[in-house]
Amino acid sequence: MQMALHPSLIRRKIGLLLIDLQSAFVDGAWRAYLPDEEVEPIKKSFENCAKLLRSGLNNVPLLMTRCPFPGGDFELDDSLNSVVDKNQRYVIKPSTSVMDARGFREWVEEELLKQGINTLVMGGCTTTSCVRVSSVRTQKAFSHKGLQVVVDLGLCGARKTNSIQRCPSCLKVYMECGDFEPSRNRHCTCGGIDVRMASPVDKAVQCMQEEGVEVLESFDWKPYMHQLPVTQ
Ligand SMILES: [Zn+2]
Repeated sequence: MQMALHPSLIRRKIGLLLIDLQSAFVDGAWRAYLPDEEVEPIKKSFENCAKLLRSGLNNVPLLMTRCPFPGGDFELDDSLNSVVDKNQRYVIKPSTSVMDARGFREWVEEELLKQGINTLVMGGCTTTSCVRVSSVRTQKAFSHKGLQVVVDLGLCGARKTNSIQRCPSCLKVYMECGDFEPSRNRHCTCGGIDVRMASPVDKAVQCMQEEGVEVLESFDWKPYMHQLPVTQ
């Protein structure tokens, strides 16, 4: 007799893409002019990625990307060095989109779709830029082949300032001028019941959802930590 599986044991077949988990974002070139607190959420997301990898995922193909920073600031963050296998496959991502990385499309075709894996979970750095652009472009490119891209926000980080909510006009100034408009950068006091407040991270999530990407606060990794029958 076939036993029914408890819902918590039913899992999708997935692949995992981790974007740019590099020291440049917490210790190096990218953050050179940013105060420590600005990169704390990124640091935290790297630690979450490290914790996930340390927990030992079963039968989840993993691909990583690295961004070629000028000056060779190419290393993984310290939190990941001890958990990422020396032979771990990675692709070099020359832009904000993984679709421009040589080998990525082939990986999706050969290691995911041809193996019956139709879900690609993404995490990494940063939510508002490379994760947003990569997830949207991958979803667009492969949705006709049945691929669903899922973004796990628990594995994603962005600068702290990118989580501050602003009114539409202050948000526009921030998006255009960033930190170069200090007087309006940190705070928006235009709030009122009729003002729709949003942060750059909120905007990125909305953008991804509108393009068909599934965005989750945190993906349920538990079923992937043990050998369990796969239901598809
Ligand atoms: Zn405002």
